[in-house]
Amino acid sequence: MDRDTQSEAIREAAVAAADRIAEEKTHLTDLDSAIGDADHGANMNRGFQAALERLEDADDDPATLVKTVGVALVSEVGGAAGPLYGGSLMKASGELEEGVTAESTVAFAERYLETVEERGKASIGDKTMVDAITPAVHTYKKAIEVDDHDPLEALGKAVDAAERGVAFTTPIRAKKGRASYLGWRSVGHQDPGATSTLYLLEELFAVAEEYLDGDVEIDAEADVAPEELEEAAADGNGDGDGDGDGDP
Ligand code: ADP
Ligand code: MG
Repeated sequence: MDRDTQSEAIREAAVAAADRIAEEKTHLTDLDSAIGDADHGANMNRGFQAALERLEDADDDPATLVKTVGVALVSEVGGAAGPLYGGSLMKASGELEEGVTAESTVAFAERYLETVEERGKASIGDKTMVDAITPAVHTYKKAIEVDDHDPLEALGKAVDAAERGVAFTTPIRAKKGRASYLGWRSVGHQDPGATSTLYLLEELFAVAEEYLDGDVEIDAEADVAPEELEEAAADGNGDGDGDGDGDP
């Protein structure tokens, strides 16, 4: 992919991200109303709409475009999430100065995680966005550097890992952010920031799929084909023949 195409893909990813956040605004705010102050959806939506405006005048260079989104999020999202999302994008964008490659995106992902952890002083298990970012970044890096997967497949696995990370935030107690004020009452609620992180990754994957021209399932460890899963679900009793009588 040449640089112009990389820039075009980044612009498209920003639009997809903004649209998704707008769509999920109420849901994110509902999650935040259970364990926070009911503003995460509105915060993120304001930030991404501002990002789209700023991108209109931004130079067509991959690192600059990502940095521009980061600056917009820092200035417009507010709360805890603004500086974490925006500041980390700004910092990590430096890794894309030579362009978007498998190697540079691993460096980008690692720098993003590092910066969120540094600034938020949170680690995995604190019931924050870090619980979605860590498995996604570790999975992406391993898929590229150890298993030699192509970036699209690696990103698909990262999305799946993030989904598990989001699920993991529900049964654990919050130790950072506003939700930590609730102590044990935070248990049983899904973290809003981890959830928005997953949505953004899903959109990134959808755009990458379009540009990298692939067809990859988002399910890293499924050992049955999706059609088989559907049949099993329709069947309802696991006998595998679809007539629901329990006899195979
Ligand atoms: P605020 O909590 O200031 O209202 P938001 O509602 O926009 O900000 O964002 C809340 C989300 O920010 C949380 O769900 C959590 O994922 C994330 N968050 C909060 N504090 C931290 C932290 N110290 N480190 C990492 N993430 C955090
Ligand atoms: Mg909030």
